[in-house]
Amino acid sequence: PLVLGIETSCDETGIGIVRGRRLLSNTIASSMAEHARYGGVVPEVAARAHLEALQPAIEAAVAEAGIALGDLDAVAVTSGPGLAGALMVGVGAAKALAVSLDKPLYAVNHLVGHIAADILTGDDVEYPTVALLVSGGHTSLLLVRDLVSDVEMLGETMDDAAGEAFDKIARILGLPYPGGPEIDRAAATGDPQAIRFPRGLSRASDLAAHRYDFSFSGLKTAVARWIEQREAAGEPVPVADVAASFREAVVDVLVTKALDACAQHGVPRLLLGGGVIANRRLREVALERAAAAGVAVRIPPLSLCTDNGAMIAALAAELIASGAAPSRLAFGADSTLPVTEIQVR
Ligand code: ATP
Ligand code: MG
Ligand code: FE
Repeated sequence: PLVLGIETSCDETGIGIVRGRRLLSNTIASSMAEHARYGGVVPEVAARAHLEALQPAIEAAVAEAGIALGDLDAVAVTSGPGLAGALMVGVGAAKALAVSLDKPLYAVNHLVGHIAADILTGDDVEYPTVALLVSGGHTSLLLVRDLVSDVEMLGETMDDAAGEAFDKIARILGLPYPGGPEIDRAAATGDPQAIRFPRGLSRASDLAAHRYDFSFSGLKTAVARWIEQREAAGEPVPVADVAASFREAVVDVLVTKALDACAQHGVPRLLLGGGVIANRRLREVALERAAAAGVAVRIPPLSLCTDNGAMIAALAAELIASGAAPSRLAFGADSTLPVTEIQVR
């Protein structure tokens, strides 16, 4: 089926068009720059930006795909989880588009959309797989037995998302937003073993209990304290070593838990998604340790890992192929939509 997907759960206005498992276009407008001076995404600013970006993004995606809106078989939209106001803009636009074109509408789960992105790489996808989604808004470990019918949340962050932690530490170090790429760059010349920062929820007892939740706020506090003490002592802060040691702590926790989940569930496959996957050390450590554990790692291209509309269209196309009925128009935005609700009927 020919499907147009709308994604507005955070700061990216994503419009993607797919024909079945084939990607035709993937247009993304980001309001990231507008959030820079606040050091994080401001929900109200994001919602307004979506409103302005949607129409031109839809036109661009349709032109790039070389289709006419009337050709579409369905419209798809992220209905949650995400920022309520931002989601509402996308949901409203999707309903208007579907009704005016008289096409079926599929309201889908954003997190499952991230998993669906992998389908568009053209390689054969195998389930079950464990999926680790790490971005500015989520840090989730999922067990995917079947993309359209069986996704289980193994664990998620109890406080900050991994990307959020990168952004906050960058801020403390005086680096600009978004902090992830900045820390990555600064860490390149640092020693990852220079400072032993805490690994949240990774004590032997946590690991023995196969607890897959994450916590990064203790790490954030530890880094802040360490820097404060240095400054109080009148000593210079070794930015590269702090960045490398902090990055190592985050990466260690993410990879350890993901591979533990693979072993515990007997699943030799790990899919990575979310904007933090851009982190060079994360990719490196994940690939190294997974190879040693006999786990195959899949990392879609970054344009499909960060928030985008194509993954939403891809998930809807899979739902349609599996015979799922369209969503009823009464659905709304649900900022806390659970991952088990793959489609909102
Ligand atoms: P959502 O959480 O809804 O998926 P988001 O906009 O918060 O959306 P993304 O756009 O997927 O998340 O990713 C942005 C986050 O990824 C930011 O927190 C940014 O700092 C982080 N990030 C980007 N590049 C890197 C990197 N090289 N290393 C670590 N973090 C990175
Ligand atoms: Mg973003
Ligand atoms: Fe996302």
